[in-house]
Amino acid sequence: MASPYVADPRTVVIDPGHGGEEVGAANFGVVEKESNLEMAFRVERLLVERGLRVVLTRRVDARASYEGLAATPTGFSAQRVDLQGRVDLANSEHAAAYVSIHSNGSASGAERGIEVYYNSQRPHAAENLRLARLVNDSVLAEVSAAGYPANARGVKDDSCLRAFQGRCFPLFVLGPDRVTNRDEILRRGGNPDALLPRGQDEFRSRATQMPATLVELFFISNAEDAAILRSEPAREAMARGVARGITRYLGLD
Ligand SMILES: [Zn+2]
Repeated sequence: MASPYVADPRTVVIDPGHGGEEVGAANFGVVEKESNLEMAFRVERLLVERGLRVVLTRRVDARASYEGLAATPTGFSAQRVDLQGRVDLANSEHAAAYVSIHSNGSASGAERGIEVYYNSQRPHAAENLRLARLVNDSVLAEVSAAGYPANARGVKDDSCLRAFQGRCFPLFVLGPDRVTNRDEILRRGGNPDALLPRGQDEFRSRATQMPATLVELFFISNAEDAAILRSEPAREAMARGVARGITRYLGLD
């Protein structure tokens, strides 16, 4: 039996979403992968000032390393390898909390605001929700106090976020352990040989062992929200909000 996970209460993982060829949302002068990374550095600085140990899942514009794989993964396989690498890093660093930073994009330019995701289908689901609520409330409070309009879209359960061919899929970094077989990898546009361990027919993903949340900071696809994302004082307010949510979750505020 695997030994139980022991979290270091002073270690936090910040996950800037996307990177490399996966750009995320992009519009009105904001590129999500760049904005997420810049925001992660801000949050890191604020948390280090509070004496915490902060691990970023990436510090450059790149995806996880594909070293050791039989073939260079593409599409779904590349995304899965990247995201699994981020989760594995958080587990190996014994983090007490995992916070993924994103901004939203929508085909409709009208959608705007802030939303925060958690997963209800895990052993520590109540802590996922507590972390998500604290990040949500702190970000909204800091952004409003700085004088920016923040449409509160709420804290949402991601356990059935993406329906694909009749099945539900959570956001990978928030979801529980699951098995993806060769057939599903193919149907979702991946290359099984780049993803599957040699001689195996399924990919067994590993979930974070600590509570996790994902914050969507405004809509890059909305002109007013994108202007907020380009504003220096607004960005610092967002970072203060994310950091404050984490320090409140850890009992430091
Ligand atoms: Zn994103």
